[in-house]
Amino acid sequence: MTQIIIRNGLVYDPLNGVNGEEIDIGVKDGRIVDPSEINVAEAINIDAKGKVVMPGGIDIHSHIAGPKVNVGRLIRPEDHYLTNIPHRLPYKRAETGLTVPNTFKIGYEYARMGYTLVAEPASPPIKTRHTHEELNAIPMIDKMTFILVDSNWIALDLIQGGEKEVLAAYLGWLLYATKGYALKIVDPGSDVAWMMKGKGIDLDEQIPGYNLTPRDIIKATGEAAQVLNLPHKVHVHCNRLGYPGNYATTLKTMGLTKDITKLSEKPVLHITHVQFTGYKGDSWTNLESGGEDIAKELNANPNVTLDLGQVIPGRPATTMTADAPFEYVLYHLTRWKWSTSDVEVESASGIVPYRYRKKNYVNTIQWTIGLEVALLSRDMWRIYLTTDHPNGGPFIDYPKVIAWLMSKKAREDFMRELSQRALRKTSLPAIDRELSLYDIAVITRAASAKLLGLEKTRGHLGLGAEADIAIYDIDPRRVDLSKQYDKVIRAFRRAYMTIKSGEIVVRNGEIVRTTYGRTIYVKPELPIDLLKDLEKMISAKFKQYYSISLNNFIIGEHELKKGVEVALKTHLR
Ligand SMILES: [Zn+2]
Repeated sequence: MTQIIIRNGLVYDPLNGVNGEEIDIGVKDGRIVDPSEINVAEAINIDAKGKVVMPGGIDIHSHIAGPKVNVGRLIRPEDHYLTNIPHRLPYKRAETGLTVPNTFKIGYEYARMGYTLVAEPASPPIKTRHTHEELNAIPMIDKMTFILVDSNWIALDLIQGGEKEVLAAYLGWLLYATKGYALKIVDPGSDVAWMMKGKGIDLDEQIPGYNLTPRDIIKATGEAAQVLNLPHKVHVHCNRLGYPGNYATTLKTMGLTKDITKLSEKPVLHITHVQFTGYKGDSWTNLESGGEDIAKELNANPNVTLDLGQVIPGRPATTMTADAPFEYVLYHLTRWKWSTSDVEVESASGIVPYRYRKKNYVNTIQWTIGLEVALLSRDMWRIYLTTDHPNGGPFIDYPKVIAWLMSKKAREDFMRELSQRALRKTSLPAIDRELSLYDIAVITRAASAKLLGLEKTRGHLGLGAEADIAIYDIDPRRVDLSKQYDKVIRAFRRAYMTIKSGEIVVRNGEIVRTTYGRTIYVKPELPIDLLKDLEKMISAKFKQYYSISLNNFIIGEHELKKGVEVALKTHLR
């Protein structure tokens, strides 16, 4: 296989404590090796002088595949008219779509930005076969999917019955059956409430038909994730997302970590796209940012992690979520297009196109929340850069977010275009902090690898790591990153070079080779006796609840283009 040696680059590798040092990096057989192991005469020599070298980017939350993504494409032809790029043989298939790109464009754009692994964060179990079909069709990157369990009737029955072991075993079985990587909870219990009563519910409200609250679901699922020893613990989209005043629910949900028994050193709950659940005030007219309060709680609570869900004013978005009741509300605010569906006994979804406007009061408040949370957080290892693509904006705008985080001037210049009335109500204009390139490497790759439990082989450039590498054409010794932020945007938008599993796939910002990455999933080991009883129970429940048979539900390994199984030793006996 290809041997590569990267010389003279300024390396940012936070998992190994490397902060902008000139270090040579060797690549052989898809792994990082000591440069002395490289046969220089045979190797591709890359001179990275005056360039930044980082591990490949890792996106922990981006809606790139599955039934709702595809419906998003179907209901938005206008998203595709102006963005079509015809195929360019031999490397590239046609690219189309801005907020909901086609599968090819998703892979190419991530690779062009130096990203090498992306997590699709919300797949309803019964529709996960579709999710994998689409993940199979996305080139360039490695991927994984999180499985929705927030309103799953079998899980709710077990939670209500207090059957903790069986619940853990069921969720472990479910992850393997769907080839998922982690458990996702969206607006827990709300899809049951939506179906029965046509509305969502808050953390401590009773779920119709059950003697349970959303709090019980988060706690029980959190405990199950500990027992299963999942590499990424529970991924939570809080109740009341999108409603004024919801920051209080988010703070309470973050506080739930103390009620979950920890069986590992890692944080217990991940609160996702916190911007959408960071609203203070009791109506849209007096909305304020809850960013400061959330950052304060994050700083005080080491057992929780957050991604931003940054919104991008001036850009169209397609909101899509399993939080169907919220999309119903959003549709009535926008009155344009709306798609909704109920997913058997598991979940639901809604899709509504949206545009974040620069002069809009609410959209300006939303813009400040993500940035406030990031800039007021003391621990960059528990913060992750996302736009909740395509909900807050398209993932191709990450370089803009990087500039806002690294440059006060970038923020000030942009603020001139926003609602001044809104800005007077936030603390962002007074924040001077500017993140460093090291911080950016943390929140876009090193911490992301750690959050997903992949830090041994991903998100770093130490010996033995997967050779996923991004080289950016920017020299922090010559460019004032704080002032010349346009150069930062340009560098991160189009990587000088992206290396995926040891092969050069992007040169000078363009795709030069198409590869298909792997799909990573977990297989929790379940004790045989427990598994037998469990299969009996699941089989009976399937007959009672589902429209399809159990055999048709289970996704085979052969259905994944390149599956990688992560075997887990659980605490189940
Ligand atoms: Zn999301």
